[in-house]
Amino acid sequence: MKKLLLVTTLIFAGLIFTGQTKQELSKGFVMDKVVKSDKEWQTCLTPEEYQVLRAKGTERAFTGKFYKHKEEGTYVCAACGNGLFSSDTKYDSGSGWPAFFDALDETKVNTKRDISYGMVRIEITCAKCDSHLGHIFEDGPKPTGLRYCVNSLALDFKAK
Ligand code: FE
Repeated sequence: MKKLLLVTTLIFAGLIFTGQTKQELSKGFVMDKVVKSDKEWQTCLTPEEYQVLRAKGTERAFTGKFYKHKEEGTYVCAACGNGLFSSDTKYDSGSGWPAFFDALDETKVNTKRDISYGMVRIEITCAKCDSHLGHIFEDGPKPTGLRYCVNSLALDFKAK
């Protein structure tokens, strides 16, 4: 009887595993998610970082440490370290926040409709930990025509 139970369990586990594999293959890519409780985020982020990354706040324009930052390297998520933007795509949008015309690749940043504050905008979040990064607008330079408008507080920098 025990043996039968074990075999049944293995078959079920196999079915679940196969299902996941198929789902992963059909998406082409699966990212290991970083999931933390609100309390854990409060512990590992500064209050300013928490306000932007987890409470969807916005730093004051022209105050962020990366607004005029021009070093070569990679901008990563300040909450989980996920690589987000290359310095090659950073440009001065004049808006007061760091701006990029593209993400490192399409799997790194997620977008979501945001109707807060009486505006219709597209929010951008880190695909790995779901933290708020900023918003994306369609007034960027070529070749994408996009402006990823990102809070400095949501970013860390890794020099080349
Ligand atoms: Fe992240």
